[in-house]
Amino acid sequence: MLAWVVDRAGPIDTGPLAQVDLASPSPGQGEVRIRIRCCGVCRTDLHLAEGDLAPRRAEITPGHEIVGVVETRGPGSDRFAIGERVGVPWLAGTDGTCRFCRSGRENLCLSPTFTGWDRPGGYAEFCLADERFCYPLPQGISDEQAAPLLCAGIIGYRSLLVSGVRPGGKLAIYGFGGSAHLTAQLALNLGMTVHVLTRGERNAALATELGVDSVGGPAEPPPEPVDGAILFAPAGELVAPALAGLDRGGTLAVAGIWLSDIERIRYQEELFEERVLRSVTANTRRDGEEFLRLAERYTITATIHPYPMQQAPQALSDLAHGRFDGAAVLHNP
Ligand SMILES: [Zn+2]
Ligand SMILES: [Zn+2]
Repeated sequence: MLAWVVDRAGPIDTGPLAQVDLASPSPGQGEVRIRIRCCGVCRTDLHLAEGDLAPRRAEITPGHEIVGVVETRGPGSDRFAIGERVGVPWLAGTDGTCRFCRSGRENLCLSPTFTGWDRPGGYAEFCLADERFCYPLPQGISDEQAAPLLCAGIIGYRSLLVSGVRPGGKLAIYGFGGSAHLTAQLALNLGMTVHVLTRGERNAALATELGVDSVGGPAEPPPEPVDGAILFAPAGELVAPALAGLDRGGTLAVAGIWLSDIERIRYQEELFEERVLRSVTANTRRDGEEFLRLAERYTITATIHPYPMQQAPQALSDLAHGRFDGAAVLHNP
């Protein structure tokens, strides 16, 4: 099978990915082999290709927003029928035994594995997955629409939970790419006031089109103090202004797996009055199941930029240079 691998991590326009021909993998105990229909492109894939995120194994295939059908099942695998459509997300496995798994916080598992980082991901024709970590996909959601929900959507949902904003409350969103444009739709459906602070005309136009309450520049304050905020842009310099935009007791959730260094936080102006700064680390399967249900109920719709699988490096380059809004999805023929 054809698969893209990270050959030599470096700036995306220097060609860090290579396409190779690999043996098609056989599923082990509890695993399924999935024929991949499409795979979303996440910023984490870019961080991996560029070396911001250290590889956990050589020649890893990126991609963790995988939509495909179960083609074969390994021993003991019976959760899905042959031919059934499934989604494969970022969280590929946990030990199930550590203190975090046992307390309902498997996103903090001490020995987790991740799709497209530890295990070969979706920039390929086939992949393997532990069936317990796959999602059945709601029928009302197409393959292409389902792909970005599997990371961008789920992480956005967890970030919204971490921000602590209640239905009817006020939310600020910093950065408006793949994850943010899904989260904003959910927040609006939950009756929240949504203020978007972003750079880039296309991102701002998309936010306006989705009906958010205001759109401003990235370092501007929101037009009113907010109950919570989510930082989607991987820009540490936005942490201080985002904290300053919070109302007393508000929480800033940092959604990304990678953030440039935070230079300075001034305690008095930006953190005092019980403002909270929290990161978001992966997600639990429960987060994923809840979000997929909400996405179907509210018809959360991704703005999709389709690419053939052959053009994976181009999709990553376009993401790096902000050449599209919404989410890129790679398609197998
Ligand atoms: Zn992702
Ligand atoms: Zn664990």
